[in-house]
Amino acid sequence: MASFLESVQSNFDKAASHMNIPSGLLEQIRVSNAVYRMNFPVRFGNSYKVIEAYRVQHSHHRLPTKGGIRFSEHVNQNEVEALAALMTYKCAIADVPFGGAKGGVKINARELTERQKERVTRRYTMELIKRNFIGPAIDVPAPDYGTGPKEMAWILDTYSTFKIGEMNAPACVTGKPVTQHGIRGRTEATGRGVFYGIRELFDRKNEVKNVGLTTGVAGKTMSIQGLGNVGSYTALISSSEGDVKVIAVAEYEGSIYDAKGINIEALLKYRKEHGSILGFPGSKTLPNRDDALYVDCDILVPAALEGVIHEGNMKKIKAKVIAEAANGPVTADADSYLTKKGVIIIPDVYLNAGGVTVSYFEWLKNISHVRFGRLEKRFQEQQNREVIKLIEKITGKTVDKRDSQFIAKGADEIDIVRSGLEETMITAFEQIYSVKRKKKNVDSFRTAAFINALSKVSNDYMSLGIFP
Ligand code: NAD
Repeated sequence: MASFLESVQSNFDKAASHMNIPSGLLEQIRVSNAVYRMNFPVRFGNSYKVIEAYRVQHSHHRLPTKGGIRFSEHVNQNEVEALAALMTYKCAIADVPFGGAKGGVKINARELTERQKERVTRRYTMELIKRNFIGPAIDVPAPDYGTGPKEMAWILDTYSTFKIGEMNAPACVTGKPVTQHGIRGRTEATGRGVFYGIRELFDRKNEVKNVGLTTGVAGKTMSIQGLGNVGSYTALISSSEGDVKVIAVAEYEGSIYDAKGINIEALLKYRKEHGSILGFPGSKTLPNRDDALYVDCDILVPAALEGVIHEGNMKKIKAKVIAEAANGPVTADADSYLTKKGVIIIPDVYLNAGGVTVSYFEWLKNISHVRFGRLEKRFQEQQNREVIKLIEKITGKTVDKRDSQFIAKGADEIDIVRSGLEETMITAFEQIYSVKRKKKNVDSFRTAAFINALSKVSNDYMSLGIFP
C-alpha cells in the first residue's frame, strides 16, 4: 500500500503530467523545504517521557508557512511531510498567501491529563522558538487532529513569554480562543467550508446527474466518520443549513445508524454525557466500528484520519459522493478504483480549506490589531437606515420592521468571516471545475485541484525569477 506521502506525490505527478512545468521547478515544488525532527523530555509525575515530534515547512515560496499541529500516537515524518505538502496546495487553491507546513507530536492526547498536555504543548513551542520555526512572519501553527483552541492559547502564551515587546506576537498561531486574540467563526470554519464545498458540487447538474442524483443538497443522505471538530460542524451545518439527513455516524467506539436521520446536536450532547455514541436513542449500533463507511448513502464524509478508505475496503463503499473532510482519507489505489467506478470525490486539498482560510483572516486581524467590522459597522447601519427612510418617503409605504432591521444591520465579525469563507469556497470550486471541464483527460476533481494549485505555485516561483 502506498504511504500517505506517496499518495500525495502520486496525485501531484498525475496533475503535473497535464502541465508543462520544467522538471527542476517541479522537483522544487514537490519536496519539503525544511524538516525539523525533535525529541524532548517532559516530566509526567515522577518520571520523564521523551517525546518525538516534528515540524515540516513544505514550501517557502510564500511566507509565513502555515499548518496545523497534530497530537496522535501515529505521527511520523512521512505523515507530517504529506500533510505539509497538502497545506501548500490547499493554500494555493484557497488563495491564502502562505506556504504549507505541518506539525506532529507523537502522543495519544486521550491518555494525557490537561496539565500533561499543557506541558507537552509548551515544551514543543519552546523547541520551535529555539530553531526559529515559529513566528508571525515565519511559520504559524493552527489546530489539527487532537488539538484545539486551548493548545493554541498555550502556544501563544509560551511564545509571548519569550518575545516580549513583539507587537504582532498574537499572529504566531491561529485557532486561538476568541478571548485570546482569536476570531469568531474559526472553530466551525473547516466544517462550514466542507458544507459550502458539498453544496457547490450539488449545484452542478451535469456532475450529480452522472451518479444518479438530483441537484441541491436538501434531503440528501449523509454518513460521517469522526465527530470531532471538523466532523461535528460538517454534520451540524449540513443538517441545519442544508437540510441534509445524517443517517450514520462512526466514532472511535463504533458506528450507529438511523434511516430517519440523526439529530447531531442531541448526539453530541449524548456523547458528552455517556462518553460514547453507542446507545443513542432511536439509532441501531452497527456490527463493526467502521460500518458507517459502508452504508448506502448519497454523501460519505470521512472526517477522522488518513488512509481509512483503501484497497482492502474500497469495494464495500456504496456512497455516490465522497466528501474528504479529513486529510488523505482515500489512498491513491482506492482513489483510482472509486473514480473509475464513477464515484465523485471532492478532494481534501480543496474541501477542508475552510480552516486555513479563516486562520488567514485571524492572522490578518492580529497583524492589523482591530476586530473586523469594528470601524465600519455603525456607519454602515446609519447609511442603511437613511436609505430605508428615503425609500419609505418616495413610496409612501412603511418597510416591515423585521425587513428593516435585517437590511439596516451592519456587518459583525462573524458575518464578515462567514461571507469571506463562503466566497473563498465558491471561487475555488469554480476554478477547479473550470479546469476539470476544459482540460482533456482530467477525470477527477482531485487532479483538477492539483493542476490549479501547481499552476499558482509555479507562477509564484517564476515571478520570483528563481526558475526563468
Ligand atoms: P479532532 O481530533 O477534533 O476529531 C477527530 C475525531 O475522529 C475524534 O472525535 C476521534 O475520536 C475520531 N476518530 C479517530 N479515529 C477514528 C476512527 N477510526 N473511526 C471513527 N472516528 C475516529 O480532529 P479534527 O480537527 O476534526 O481533524 C479531523 C481531520 O480533519 C484530520 O484529518 C485533520 O487533518 C483534518 N483537518 C482539520 C482541520 C481543523 O481545522 N481542525 C482543518 C483541515 C483538515
